[in-house]
Amino acid sequence: LRHLVLVLGDQLDLEGAAFDGFDAAHDAVWMAEVAEESTHVWSSQPRIAVFLAAMRHFAVALREAGRPLHYRRLDEPETRASLSAQLAADLAALRPQRLILTRPGDWRVLTALQAAAADAGVALELREDRHFFTTPQDFAAHAKGRKGLRMEYFYREQRKRFGVLMDGGKPLGGEWNYDVENREAFGPEGPGFDLPQPPRFEPDAITREVITLVRERFAGHPGRLDSFAWPLTRAQSLQALQAFVRERLPLFGPYQDAIWPGEPWLYHAQLSAALNLKLLTPQEVVTAAEAEVRAGRVSIASGEGFIRQILGWREYVRGIYWTRMPAYAEGNALDARHDLPDWYWTGDTDMACLRDAITQTLAHGYAHHIQRLMVTGLFALLYGVEPAQVHAWYLSVYVDAVEWVELPNTIGMSQYADGGLMASKPYIASGKYISRQSPLCGRCRYRPDERVGPQACPFTTLYWDFLLRHETRFADHPRLALQVRGVGRIAEAERDRIRAQAAALRSTAT
Ligand code: FAD
Ligand code: SF4
Repeated sequence: LRHLVLVLGDQLDLEGAAFDGFDAAHDAVWMAEVAEESTHVWSSQPRIAVFLAAMRHFAVALREAGRPLHYRRLDEPETRASLSAQLAADLAALRPQRLILTRPGDWRVLTALQAAAADAGVALELREDRHFFTTPQDFAAHAKGRKGLRMEYFYREQRKRFGVLMDGGKPLGGEWNYDVENREAFGPEGPGFDLPQPPRFEPDAITREVITLVRERFAGHPGRLDSFAWPLTRAQSLQALQAFVRERLPLFGPYQDAIWPGEPWLYHAQLSAALNLKLLTPQEVVTAAEAEVRAGRVSIASGEGFIRQILGWREYVRGIYWTRMPAYAEGNALDARHDLPDWYWTGDTDMACLRDAITQTLAHGYAHHIQRLMVTGLFALLYGVEPAQVHAWYLSVYVDAVEWVELPNTIGMSQYADGGLMASKPYIASGKYISRQSPLCGRCRYRPDERVGPQACPFTTLYWDFLLRHETRFADHPRLALQVRGVGRIAEAERDRIRAQAAALRSTAT
């Protein structure tokens, strides 16, 4: 055997870089379903099922393409527990001259596979992943010599470099960012309240078999599989992309910050899992969105708002991950030490916004960005949960969770645990923010504008407690000064009441 091409669960593209020069007469593909990838964090059933089902569908595509495949199934008794142990066993039997691997999505996996190859004395060739616009080296070059990093500047560079939404040397329409036009309240009075239903991909025989396996083997893991309908093949993912750009992209921008009870999808793309599994390329997603803008079917504001998430944020967080790991995962700049409340795993809480976001997360393996950042993430930040535990939760529960994207979003953007490398200020707010974005507070036993007393909203109590705890740290912070000044005006007796209420909340974990 000449080359053994290693294909991980998030590398499911027949055109991927690892297949360059593939010769079916001399080379073979290796894939393995191992328990450790579902247990190193307490992975949810939807997340495990998405990965395994997509892998098994990809195995079919590989065989149809005539590429020899060594595939280890989780339910075969001799399958090893970890990727490195399985690879070690297979290297002894297959004896390839060389291993080919595209950069994995996880630093832990990269180092484990490199170690397994080195132990076996087999050369491992690492190839860059073409499923991104930029490489970690591009990001390092951008970051070099800069005092602070800001997504916006990185994003503008990429717009110019790849000619996305550009009009010659200028941004299309004259502005780089149209967010002021994008914030609209979602509700029965506005357009688009009659939500288009995104396509559902009902489980076929392969997926049903995986669902049965996951239910049996990972019975104690969080989440449910009764409404499982994610795109799992390249063809399904392309169909999901087309449906999104035609039906939901026009109103993506205006409603991207909305939260509506019982409506998990709103106008979001639901494409993150397909993108992260490499069933779609970000280039084709951006091209499809830009084409709608240029055809006049989507406003520049909405199209640009969407493209920024992919060409901007998605690339930026990956750059941070690969240039800062492994130390990045240890960040705890605010010295947060509390345990994650147990109800994060069940949704069993009286707080209506959290109950809604977590229940839907467990049912679908999905919540949109504002729910992740300003409901589950915000609560953990204000409560003071240890960042590593918050990270483990986000990596477990979402079907799109792969460490390169999950970790910077959690540690950096939502928990400020990197001390401000990724986000210019902690994303803090009281319950009043949530009451502006959704009608959930009206269905809650708490009151978003009360910070002490029996009906005080825990977000609001903990928001003021956060400012009190970090008053000195943020006193001179340019973007928090106003909020910190507000705290300065609070009398000592009221401070004590806030602190006591916050302490009581933490001791009962609501
Ligand atoms: P849309 O809202 O329709 O956005 C379109 C696309 O833009 C997404 O599919 C995604 O590829 C990209 N995107 C949007 N925001 C981001 C972002 N902040 N970082 C990177 N890409 C982005 N995204 C993941 O893919 N995997 C994760 O594990 C993940 N964990 C997160 C954890 C936290 C605490 C937070 C605040 C955000 C996280 N995100 C993660 C980013 C974002 O919330 C999801 O990408 C998005 O909700 C996926 O849904 P969608 O496809 O409907 O996205
Ligand atoms: Fe959430 Fe507070 Fe509103 Fe209840 S009152 S839904 S806890 S923000």
